[in-house]
Amino acid sequence: MAKFSIFSTDTSRRIAEADSVAVIGLGRFGSALALELMQAGTEVLGIDLDEELVQSLNGELTQVVRADSTRVEVLNQLAIDEFDRVVVAIGGDISASILTCSVLLSMRIPVIWAKAVDDRHGQILEQLGVHHVIYPEKDMGRRVAHLVRGAALDYIEVAPGYALVKAPAPTQIQGVALGETSIRKSHGVTIAAFQHGDDAWTNADNATVLGPGDTVLIVGRTKDAEAFAQLR
Ligand code: ATP
Repeated sequence: MAKFSIFSTDTSRRIAEADSVAVIGLGRFGSALALELMQAGTEVLGIDLDEELVQSLNGELTQVVRADSTRVEVLNQLAIDEFDRVVVAIGGDISASILTCSVLLSMRIPVIWAKAVDDRHGQILEQLGVHHVIYPEKDMGRRVAHLVRGAALDYIEVAPGYALVKAPAPTQIQGVALGETSIRKSHGVTIAAFQHGDDAWTNADNATVLGPGDTVLIVGRTKDAEAFAQLR
């Protein structure tokens, strides 16, 4: 039988009590997510089968443990039921992802996020009752397509058909207070914030006057926000 270096349940309980998340699967996606959570001040229990990966993240996360997440007794020993947020970042091994999610659901974890590698995988996770199914490759591909085709510096679709686009401020809205430009009516977009050179980002209001070299955050329907980002 495989041996797993499980640390004490007490340690897991202590982590779970704080602002904390358990991340299962520490591949490229899971480890980036776990490290970003740590940066933001969240305590992270990381779990992976791979000893080398576990070693490499030792000291970087609050706790890292080598364990097989498909085994209910292992998750019990880790006191995973004490966590109210768990991320399953296992992609390649679909059966491990599904088994892990089903164990977590049976433990009644309040919020489970799981990564799906394709629509079929995602559909199964959704049918199981996973609360948030994410498609990192698909979403990133779609996002990059919008960056490649236009002048946008960054692009986030906040809901189907509605987006937030970062772009250079077009000349036609420079030198005049935003409140006097009527771009909401003419272009169907709102300028939410702006940045002058390397200065900090600032919320925009009716009195904001943009200048050359400014960058803006455009909010609106995807096609309107993208069309506005193309203006020079
Ligand atoms: P990425 O693209 O994020 O690198 P991936 O989509 O290729 O990952 P996998 O390699 O399948 O996904 O899984 C990510 C991590 O999950 C791996 O480090 C793997 O060791 C771990 N993992 C897979 N099965 C289990 C399991 N049963 N228990 C714990 N960890 C697991």
